[in-house]
Amino acid sequence: MGITKPDSSTADASPSSMRSPIPDSLVPNPPSPTPYSLPPISLTVTAIKQFVYCPRIIYFTYCLPLKRPTTYKMQEGKLEHESNEERESRRSLRAYGLSEGERHFAVRLTSERLALTGVLDMVIVTPQELIPVEFKSSTGSLGLNHKYQLTAYAMLVEDWKDKAVRRGFVYFIPQKRAVEVAVTPNMRAFVKKALGDIRGMIAKEMIPEGTRHAGRCVDCEFKNYCNDRE
Ligand code: SF4
Repeated sequence: MGITKPDSSTADASPSSMRSPIPDSLVPNPPSPTPYSLPPISLTVTAIKQFVYCPRIIYFTYCLPLKRPTTYKMQEGKLEHESNEERESRRSLRAYGLSEGERHFAVRLTSERLALTGVLDMVIVTPQELIPVEFKSSTGSLGLNHKYQLTAYAMLVEDWKDKAVRRGFVYFIPQKRAVEVAVTPNMRAFVKKALGDIRGMIAKEMIPEGTRHAGRCVDCEFKNYCNDRE
């Protein structure tokens, strides 16, 4: 008995060929892309200092494409920092109450966790401690802006070395004076909140109130842009 070929008239009548096309309304949508959030805006430690000094400086720095002139004061401060670094490397660590320690200058720091970067003037490394130091050319007293700037650096050093930092110093170059600053949990919390506030301000692109301390406006490079300041 020979093999019987299928009848060509019924060869296409397989179950699959008999299915009617699926209506568009029943075709499932392709899976939507996985939701993701944008990474936080990357900031520098200088932003913390500026925010505490006058929040409006943040707006001019991050939201307006201003061409910033290099003022004489800025230039002078930069030169003073450089020559201080040279002198500092020859000095003892007595100003910091230390008998030993290794100094590292202009330390570039980054924390992905905080989305924060900065260049710290100096870090002193002892067998027990990591101590951030910021140099200041001003003759004024220790300001809140200096304290929180130093705290932000301390947090970057902690992320860098995975070791707690409990204090730092602000060194006033003209007076050759080091002022110790304790890095407390409250100060860390302030820095974290400030980073959130700064990012919110940048995202909204809204000009905030300027500082209440009119004296700060006298030498401010943005004074010409602040209509409410003389
Ligand atoms: S001029 Fe005064 S209010 Fe305006 S950005 Fe400068 S410090 Fe702030």
